[in-house]
Parts: sequence; C-alpha cells; structure tokens
Amino acid sequence: MKYAKNMLETIGNTPLVKINKLAEEIPALVLAKYETFNPGNSVKDRMAVKMIEDAEADGRLKPGGTIIEGTSGNTGMGLALAAIVKGYKMVCVISDKQSKEKMDVLRAVGSEVIVCPNDVEPDDPRSYYSTSKRLAEETPNSWYVNQYDNPSNTKAHYESTGPEIWKQTEGKITHFVVGVGTGGTISGVGKYLKEQNPDIKIWGIDTYGSVFKKYHETGEFDENEIYPYITEGIGEDILPANVNFDIIDGFTKVTDKDAAVYTRKLAEEEGMFLGNSAGAAMKGLLQLKEHFTKDDVVVVLFHDHGSRYVAKIYNDDWMREQGFLE
Ligand code: PMP
Repeated sequence: MKYAKNMLETIGNTPLVKINKLAEEIPALVLAKYETFNPGNSVKDRMAVKMIEDAEADGRLKPGGTIIEGTSGNTGMGLALAAIVKGYKMVCVISDKQSKEKMDVLRAVGSEVIVCPNDVEPDDPRSYYSTSKRLAEETPNSWYVNQYDNPSNTKAHYESTGPEIWKQTEGKITHFVVGVGTGGTISGVGKYLKEQNPDIKIWGIDTYGSVFKKYHETGEFDENEIYPYITEGIGEDILPANVNFDIIDGFTKVTDKDAAVYTRKLAEEEGMFLGNSAGAAMKGLLQLKEHFTKDDVVVVLFHDHGSRYVAKIYNDDWMREQGFLE
C-alpha cells in the first residue's frame, strides 16, 4: 500500500502547469509552479516544517513547547498543521490588514490568533513584529520562529522547491519569476537554480509601498518608498535577512489594482483560483515580456489559494470600493 504517514508527508512535489491565454503575448513557454496543492494550500508549508525540524534538531524547540510567529496567514497555516502533527501549541500574531478568512482558517486548525494594528511602525510596541517578540519572551517553553530572518526558510526552498523546478523543466528553465515577502522563496529557489546554471535569470515581484526594488537598484533604504498598500503577501517595509539581493537580477513593481485584476483573470481565463500575490506575479511577468524570447522557459511561482480571498478580490463590492472594478 502507498500512503502518507501524516499530512506533513504530502508537502511538496506540486505540479508545473502551462499558462495559456494569459501568456499569449509572451513568446516563451510560461509555466506556473502551482503551490496550492500543498496541504495548507500554500508554498509556506515547505518552510514551516523545515523551520520546525531545524529548531527541534538544535534544541530551540522542545517537546510540548509553544510556537509563536508573526504571520500573514500562510506560514501560520503551515506551522499550525505541523504543530498538530508534532504536538506543539501554536500562537499566530497577525496584522488587521489580513483577510478575516485567513484568521478563521488559522483558528480552525487550532491556532490562537492575536490581531495587531497594521498602520504602526515596525518598532511600535503594538506592531505584530514587536508583539510576537514580546509574547515569546513572556511565554515559558516557547520558540519565536521569525520567518523573516530564519535561515531555514530559504533552506527549505533550496532543498525542495528549487530542485523540483529544475527536475520538472529538465534543466531547461531560463527565467524564474516570483513575489517577494520574507524572501525565502526567491532566495532559496534562485540560489539552487543559479548553481545549476548561472545564466538563469531571477526576477522578483514587488509592490508599490515596499522598499525592495529601490534598495536592489541603489543600495539605499528609502523610507519614502514606504506607504500602505493593499496587495497581500509581498513587499516589506524592512529588509529581511532572507532576501538575498545578490542572486536577484531585478525587480518589477505591480500596482494594487493590477494585482487584484490579474488575480481574477487567472481564475477566469486559466481556471487558476489563486491568491492576491499570484495576480501580482502574473502581471509582473507580463511587464517583463521584452526580456523573454521564443526558446525561453519561464517559471512563475503561485504562492496561495483563492479561497482566502473570497471576501476581497473575488467580491465585486470590495473590488468597486477599492476602485478596482468599474
Ligand atoms: N505570496 C503570499 C500569498 C505569501 O503569503 C508570501 C509570504 N509572505 C509571499 C507571496 C512571499 O513569499 P516569501 O515570503 O517566500 O518571499
């Protein structure tokens, strides 16, 4: 008999799917690394389990311990699944910008959810960065995951996502395009791919209101680049240790409206029911079209599932309120 011993064994080995209509104007073959097939419906399951296993191995996480993380939802889901299978308590600290479904889902899988204001500075004691750190200090036998600076995040993608893409494309991949938040996905996959073939180009998708693109181009951390934005999952107002700017060839920024509109287009034109950052990645890829030729194989990674966005991106009233729909 062939079966998984628990849900964690079903993580990874996700399909690579051709994008057809939406990529018509691109001369290259465009393939989506379709990460919603993971049990928590996002790529983040991979790094969640890796971070836990590395923390168990060196004693940072002990039996019966409490896992604490400031998470926008997907990492929390991955951590919560692993916490159930492995017998830990899970606390997610989340910003109030995140969708209500994401919070409900985390509670459904046994996580305690603490909601913090989004419109405060990262070093404000009310921010989700500060709150998660403080909780970790106050809670006995707890471990603060810190996905932004935890090297196991990048390592997970170096060990699993990168090799899968290389194998699935039989080494023919020429470009990798992906949204950047903590930087774990782009840095791990990008490092692995460049080690196999240094000519592979790695493109990051950023959002207006985030510091990555400007920092990559100028080396300057420009606070004027920071302002509130709607796109979920990508962009930052900090420089996480997991973003390896050296392996990234360039960034392109996508507007909130375009990210939302293209998320819908993926569902309507490709049957790909995905999250907000997938729309940003798809539109970003189209913005980069002059970089691709007919012999290229472009892989774009789609991080998470549409079910977490039904009250927002997939809701006409919400889209109209944002001015994203006429
Ligand atoms: N998209 C979504 C929906 C995410 O949750 C995240 C993680 N913040 C990203 C993209 C960015 O991935 P990474 O953190 O690996 O850069």
